[in-house]
Amino acid sequence: MLDSALLPCPWHMSLWTALADQSQHAHAYLFAGLPGVGKRRFASAFSAFLLCTDPQRGMACERCRSCLLRKAGTHPDSLFIAPEEEGKAIRVDAIRQLGDFIAQTAQQGGRKVVILHPAEAMNLNAANALLKSLEEPNRDTFLLLVSDQPSRLLATIRSRCRVQTLNTPVLTEALGWLAQELSDLSPEQHAALLLMAGGAPLRAVGLHQMDALTLRKLVVDGIKELLKNQCSASQLAERWNNVPLELLVDWFCSLTLDLLKLKTGAEECVANNDMDKVLGYMAQRLDVRLLMDWQAWLFDHRGKILGKANLNRVLFVESLLIQWKQLAERR
Ligand SMILES: [Zn+2]
Repeated sequence: MLDSALLPCPWHMSLWTALADQSQHAHAYLFAGLPGVGKRRFASAFSAFLLCTDPQRGMACERCRSCLLRKAGTHPDSLFIAPEEEGKAIRVDAIRQLGDFIAQTAQQGGRKVVILHPAEAMNLNAANALLKSLEEPNRDTFLLLVSDQPSRLLATIRSRCRVQTLNTPVLTEALGWLAQELSDLSPEQHAALLLMAGGAPLRAVGLHQMDALTLRKLVVDGIKELLKNQCSASQLAERWNNVPLELLVDWFCSLTLDLLKLKTGAEECVANNDMDKVLGYMAQRLDVRLLMDWQAWLFDHRGKILGKANLNRVLFVESLLIQWKQLAERR
């Protein structure tokens, strides 16, 4: 389903105005940026704007027939393509459907818009099929590709799209927005969530919905106990049973990045101030080469986890913790 939000996030308004003001739009856009920065919302709003037959002050009017159909989710000239299941590939059948959609005449007599999200989920066959559509643009059809990882797209696809990077807001704006969205949380909690989200506010809200602050404390406390020999790797692996692996592996990647920064001259942690003592202690002892090996192992497993590979969860977490402990105990 398309997002119903008609407005882009407030921090994307200047980009919006610049795009909406143009007399001619590109046939294919690639909206790129961090997860949770507001790309999909931007693409939905832009789709609504392109389909509207009577835009008002650079926005969809919400009153014309086209807007009413879109709001009801029944606009025949709007297509949303996503994987059938989250985390799975977008397959060539879906792109063939896109080809048919482009070939047919607009039923409302105006424009047709396709949103493809997340674009990097296309498998190679799908990507090659999409290239054909991009090579033969149809005058009134617009393709909006949305991607967290545009580097994973074929270069030939990227080069046929107008790439628009959607940036994170400045810190004060992001915190102000979070204060409204998550008004039951404290400013410290907003800041902690935002840091965890890499500055992307919608991701911060998603993390809150996963109860990430509680999970984070569980993980940080556990790591400290492990290093003090107050619990074993297998006990921790069990205790962390509810922590999503994506989150866990991201946190360890971030801890490792902070370690590398400390090791190469940074004075304090950037992203993990709840672990600064532990990391400072580890950085003094660590060999950079070992750290790079560990990082390579971690990235490899992160790739597997994000790619939904079959992974024995307990074995993975135990192995991760044993290696982490070895790094910390290295002299
Ligand atoms: Zn309208």
